[in-house]
Amino acid sequence: MEKYQRIWDDAIDRLKSNISQQSFDMFFSTPKKVYKVKNNKMYVVVQNNHEQFMLDKFYLKEVVEMIAEVSGFNYDVKFITNDYVKNDQQAFDLTKPDPNLPKYYRGNLNTTYTFDRFVAGKSNRLAYMIALQVAERPGEVANPLYIFGGVGLGKTHLMQAIGNFILDDNPSSRILYCTSEKFIDDYRHATLDNNFEAFKEKYRNIDVLLIDDIQFLSKKEQTQTEFFNTFNELYNNNKQIVITSDRPASDLKDIMDRLTSRFEWGLQADIQIPDTQTRIEIMKKKLAGENINLEEFPEEVLEFIASKFNSNVRTLEGALKRLIFYATINNSDFTIELANEALRDLFKAEQKNSKVDVNNIIKEVGAYYDVSVADILSKKRKKNIAFARQVAMFLTRELTGSSFPKIGEAFSGRDHTTIMHGCEKIEKELKESDELKKAISDLKQVLS
Ligand code: ADP
Ligand code: MG
Repeated sequence: MEKYQRIWDDAIDRLKSNISQQSFDMFFSTPKKVYKVKNNKMYVVVQNNHEQFMLDKFYLKEVVEMIAEVSGFNYDVKFITNDYVKNDQQAFDLTKPDPNLPKYYRGNLNTTYTFDRFVAGKSNRLAYMIALQVAERPGEVANPLYIFGGVGLGKTHLMQAIGNFILDDNPSSRILYCTSEKFIDDYRHATLDNNFEAFKEKYRNIDVLLIDDIQFLSKKEQTQTEFFNTFNELYNNNKQIVITSDRPASDLKDIMDRLTSRFEWGLQADIQIPDTQTRIEIMKKKLAGENINLEEFPEEVLEFIASKFNSNVRTLEGALKRLIFYATINNSDFTIELANEALRDLFKAEQKNSKVDVNNIIKEVGAYYDVSVADILSKKRKKNIAFARQVAMFLTRELTGSSFPKIGEAFSGRDHTTIMHGCEKIEKELKESDELKKAISDLKQVLS
């Protein structure tokens, strides 16, 4: 907490020159304690309810701005009184869930899936931001929130972060996380026992429903009808619903239209495969979580791992854990040689599973623009061919993180400056062309 206390103190120091002496003396002259920081929110203890009210109303914006200035990070601030601290500590002491709440309301959230631990990058930023807003104002911003994307890209993490955030704000809220398979199973049991009381109590008497991997409802007509009723009841009562899926709602197969069209009522956000930089950031965050000093872990080793595991964050994380384990038992430093040794088997498996390799990227880009692989690899300069070629170069760079010379080799031995130029051109055009934006996003979806 020391680090945050320092940020707070520095921020207040700066605030001094931005507000009147009188206001400063009134609200900030006695030092305030940062109680905790959770989910990007700084909890600051104030003297009483009146002070809390005044600070919230008149100084919140300034304080948040100053904190951003000194820390370079957008923390939210929540002013709390000692009452809050007391309750919170009691809740901590209990470590057990509130005995009055059925266990499925709390017990099935993974408490490590928080916004804090989620790295937002180009590939997921929109989904992250919407999820955060939904968590701040459940039932108001986007209902349902529908998050979709490939395997291991953070859908479950983000969905549970919403639940954890809401619980944090209000420990008695009833959050139900379940996979659609669990829903199917529960419904089947209710039917077999001809007892729907408990089922309805569980799924309808809640504040937030997080339903994971909805695609598995496919072909289960009866369960779909039941889910439709559950959805309507929650929706009509302004209860937040969050859904994840491996594809957009409109592409769901064998799920009734009246259901999929409801999924489109709120907001849909997709998560794509993270680019190299984001993969590196994710690893850094995991290392911090493992209390490993980043200075011990050379950037080149991170880059190396990021270049080898590029399609699934879960696999990336697994590789990193394995390397840490390997280094610990061998008592050795983190080097590329060690990574090579520790991860050899995983490389093979990854190559087999990953759709993100240069040949496949060229193939998919070719299919998208109706240009043959041979033409992309050729020297032809026809406009549409050259364009598809550059898109393929760009995606290869972004998704595999390979060096320019290495990509050059894969593109019939082109010079690295040609690759660089191609990537820059697409990057520039991306800022202006919605069509290209959509193409890149579609292609990333295909490749994940
Ligand atoms: P999905 O549900 O999309 O298959 P998960 O949410 O289970 O994926 O994520 C797989 C693993 O990768 C989890 O351990 C999760 O914490 C991690 N992960 C995925 N994306 C991120 C991210 N952007 N930042 C940090 N960790 C991530
Ligand atoms: Mg999942």
